[in-house]
Amino acid sequence: MADFVDELFQILEDKGQGAYFGEAVSELEHALQAAHLAASSGAGAELVAAALLHDVGHLLHGLGEDIAEHDIDGRHEEAGANWLHQHFGPAVTEPIRLHVPAKRYLCSAESGYLAGLSPASVKSLQLQGGPMSREEQHQFEQHPFYREAVELRRWDDAAKVPGWQVPGLEAYRETLTQALAARHT
Ligand code: FE
Repeated sequence: MADFVDELFQILEDKGQGAYFGEAVSELEHALQAAHLAASSGAGAELVAAALLHDVGHLLHGLGEDIAEHDIDGRHEEAGANWLHQHFGPAVTEPIRLHVPAKRYLCSAESGYLAGLSPASVKSLQLQGGPMSREEQHQFEQHPFYREAVELRRWDDAAKVPGWQVPGLEAYRETLTQALAARHT
């Protein structure tokens, strides 16, 4: 388990230096800011782990920062969740899998949400299918982890602050170890 935490840290450190999706922060800064927002709001270990790792699919693909620019939907949420599933349980992987649908959900379920998105996020929304229909919203709410996915989405949206200094990866070693162990409880 310790080996997998090291592998995760290495991926985030080595491949996370690229810009995050048209924003003024790197993938690593974005991940650390999202994890810090989750931890600060009192989320449990598995949801903090999900926040830290929610975009790991970008790094696995090696498609980097500007998928929207190239009009490719890299489906990073599926790639990341499937890859993490080798070691983590659904409380980590499912909020990650749903964090893009959660954006489409909030765009239709919450007035004013879309207006608060960054330009890059609005642009990728169209590739991701646009705001959900009522029927899609209803279906989304049936998912056992939809609330966690919506929480993760809000941290994701807020984790784009240039120069914001937050704790580094080592601050999450214990959290990740707990989240890995939780799968077997
Ligand atoms: Fe993100």
